[in-house]
Amino acid sequence: MDESVGHHCGVFGVYNVPDAASKTYLGLFAQQHRGQESAGIVVSDGKKVEFKKGMGLVTEVFADKAALTAMHGHIAVGHVRYSTTGASRTQNIQPLLVEYARGSLAVAHNGNLVNAKRLRDELEANGSIFQTTTDSEVLLHLMASPKNAEREDQLAHCLRQMKGAYSLVIMTRTQLIGARDPQGFRPLILGRLINEPDLGHISEGFVLCSESCALDQIGAEFAREIEPGEIVTIDSEGIRSSRIVPVEDVKPSHCIFEHVYFARPDSRIFNDDVHAVRMKLGATLAREHPVEADIVFAVPDSGNAGAIGYSRESGIPLDMGFIRNHYVGRSFIKPNQNERESVVAMKFNVVRSAVRGKRVIVVEDSLVRGTTFKHQARILRNAGAKEVHLRITCPPTRNACYYGIDFPRKEDLIAERMKTTDAIAKWLGVDSLGYISLEGLLAAVSQPASHYCTACWSGKYPVAPEDAMDKLALESGEMPKTSGA
Ligand code: SF4
Repeated sequence: MDESVGHHCGVFGVYNVPDAASKTYLGLFAQQHRGQESAGIVVSDGKKVEFKKGMGLVTEVFADKAALTAMHGHIAVGHVRYSTTGASRTQNIQPLLVEYARGSLAVAHNGNLVNAKRLRDELEANGSIFQTTTDSEVLLHLMASPKNAEREDQLAHCLRQMKGAYSLVIMTRTQLIGARDPQGFRPLILGRLINEPDLGHISEGFVLCSESCALDQIGAEFAREIEPGEIVTIDSEGIRSSRIVPVEDVKPSHCIFEHVYFARPDSRIFNDDVHAVRMKLGATLAREHPVEADIVFAVPDSGNAGAIGYSRESGIPLDMGFIRNHYVGRSFIKPNQNERESVVAMKFNVVRSAVRGKRVIVVEDSLVRGTTFKHQARILRNAGAKEVHLRITCPPTRNACYYGIDFPRKEDLIAERMKTTDAIAKWLGVDSLGYISLEGLLAAVSQPASHYCTACWSGKYPVAPEDAMDKLALESGEMPKTSGA
């Protein structure tokens, strides 16, 4: 993957777990790949709500373990963030926490709304004062609005006004709530956790998270996915399900790019194991784009399973052509093009003995700008590779995503700039280039093709964007400065 695509966010929450803040820390740590700019945890003991949030990785924000264990409570919600809307600033760190007429409300949101600007304009016209530039804050103001606050279906009513992608974990002083948009763009998982016997009493806790790898991290069991258009409420009376929209109005549009790139391979999302899907993508690529070669290897890490699948299907031996340096930290991730190239050089090196004199097939998850692989093709040639054949486990990326993935501008996408596969291959400096077909991609997952969003390739948007939201679309002048507590 080019360094040009932003992960979105990861959400996590627990109910009836004695060390809720520490469990949330671990759950966020497991989902760190979904957002590295900021992290936060809000915890409740049923009476008092405490929070800590800050810029940086989970381990940086919660470096002081004593402060974490001092956050008492059995309910917690947490968030790791990449800024798909709202600039990277402390006000925008989630969970967002407010006190309003009905008490405390903490919200952690994954996904992007496509009507946030209009909702925000309407709310501001009615007197709302926004504290952040995130689309997520719209929900807080809808909930606090007098005409919504007293409704019995308050949350469902507010969510029906929000269009686009939202997988939400919400906490009140006494409840944990999960909610997922009617398209189910982003994953949201329910887990169960058996608490250690305490004074002879065994109790059951509940977990909500973006990916099932977070359940494994805390020893919880996978229960099920929150359904598209469903709200799950967990409190002292147990767990209850209600609907944002009726089941018959649900049109699932799961983001299949989660399977291609974003989700961790040890996760299960949208009813499929991510690793197994990626292996199938590799096998399909081998059938769709065969080529004679000596070895197959991946651009690590997200190409790994695809390379295994390609190798098994084609019979061409699997090898390790690239080594990734995992110690290149965020401080090296520079935004401009020249510096991005130097980061790539620091991040990947070639195993010369593996590629020298060989015809190599390289499996990569996606090509966005193309600049990363152009560099990689060059260092493979310099290391003595005789032929370089690139295989991509998703179709050519041509369109923006409005549902929470931060692609570069359309004019920067290589598939838009070059138009033909041959032209792209020439520019990259490879002997051949093969993208998986959209049909091949959709055949690797278990649900019907109509249940997935494919807009970044097909241009067919399941929910029409009201405005071309980019991550700074809600920025309007200087926001007051606060420090993360
Ligand atoms: Fe996922 Fe692409 Fe759809 Fe965005 S446009 S939700 S990245 S499939």
